[in-house]
Amino acid sequence: MSYTPTIGLEVHAELNTESKMFCGCTNQPHGSEPNSFICPVCMAHPGTLPVPNEQAIEMVLKFGQAVNATPAKFSEFDRKNYFYPDIPKAYQISQYAFPFLEGGKLKGVELTRVHLEEDTARSQHNKGTGSLVDFNRAGVPLMELVTEPVIHDSDTASAFAKELQLLLRTLGISKANMEKGEMRVEANISVSKDNTLGTKVEVKNLNSFKAVEGAINYEIKRQTEMLEAGKELAQETRGWDENKARTFSQRSKETAKDYRYFPDPDIPKIDVSNHTEFSTTRLSENTPVLPDIKRLNYKNLGLPSAAIETIISSEELDNYFANVASDETLSSEVIKLSANYLTSDIAALLNEKGLKLADLRPLYFVELMTMLVDDKIGSRVAKDLLAGLFGSSEGPLKIAMDRNLLQMSDGDSLQPVIDEIISENQSVVDEVRSGKEAAVQFLVGQGMKKTKGAANPGMLKKMFIESIK
Ligand SMILES: [Zn+2]
Repeated sequence: MSYTPTIGLEVHAELNTESKMFCGCTNQPHGSEPNSFICPVCMAHPGTLPVPNEQAIEMVLKFGQAVNATPAKFSEFDRKNYFYPDIPKAYQISQYAFPFLEGGKLKGVELTRVHLEEDTARSQHNKGTGSLVDFNRAGVPLMELVTEPVIHDSDTASAFAKELQLLLRTLGISKANMEKGEMRVEANISVSKDNTLGTKVEVKNLNSFKAVEGAINYEIKRQTEMLEAGKELAQETRGWDENKARTFSQRSKETAKDYRYFPDPDIPKIDVSNHTEFSTTRLSENTPVLPDIKRLNYKNLGLPSAAIETIISSEELDNYFANVASDETLSSEVIKLSANYLTSDIAALLNEKGLKLADLRPLYFVELMTMLVDDKIGSRVAKDLLAGLFGSSEGPLKIAMDRNLLQMSDGDSLQPVIDEIISENQSVVDEVRSGKEAAVQFLVGQGMKKTKGAANPGMLKKMFIESIK
């Protein structure tokens, strides 16, 4: 009988409020001069008092609406006590017994709870010259989400994390860049043979989706091998070594008892249900279209699911496509082709050539797509014209006319080309005559070359077959 893995995730997301969680300091933890956004409150000077940031609470409650979580009627902040240089008060303000949200579901995974806390400072350990601490991040609002232990493989875990990132961005409450630490994933992993949960190992600091998958797969294998060899697993916290692609032991796992949680006496309890700022109707105002609704809308337009995922995971592509799709005069074929070009050719131009989508006028883009659907140009010409439309003051129809690129599908103008190619390629023509139909493709290729891609290949093929008969 094989072992069943069980995984629960804990995800921290930095909320992009204007100010920090309990003081008025600017919330800008990345890329600034160290210790430029600090004050006596977040530096824990004696006599200062924390004031909870309502914008952060509102963001968490808004997240709760999106995942159908139950909002707390009553909430409070607790002190989580531990000593470390990155935590100036020697405790972190977090939530223990009364989180803002309980339950809910995302991507099929049940959530246990979501609470708010403050981030720690960032320490930098320099070999030989001691350690430095940057407090810009100390006190930044951090949303912590805990899932139920209901995940059984690394793919589901990573898909959940991706969906969470997308939702945080869609709601505009976190930038959720994993490589910057704006979203940090921890995985609790155990394996067992019966229905009970095995010894839990926590892997911390997973800063990419690849790391989430790698660490989970590694732990499942390691734990299974240990148990099969009759060894005992330690309940511990492990880190992930990206280069060696393995986890390593960091310390034995703390339990809640170790932190001596108690309600923070400096912060009044929060009566969520009687707080007008947090009323459901108020929160529902300006709620953006959520990813699942977008998926459904785009599916109804006939888009394939791969294109849908590419579009909704990029704010830029999504806004652009939504604008195109909102034009009711366009045929469904033009809309589908637009999605196809946006997710392939245009995405490549943006990534590889550094072009800006803002420089491509939707009017011209739609005109190009319409020309293609109407067979006025072929896909080769469309691709050639596309890059030139960025920043262009002329539309594609005018450019194509000026450069004589419009597709030739009238027999009269194509016949001389056909005749010329036939006379130049007698041996191929003989092959076609002797029944080798595939040889006609060569002639079509010559026709496309001679017309610089302006001929309609289907038309050419038909005309060659007729002329050779
Ligand atoms: Zn401050």
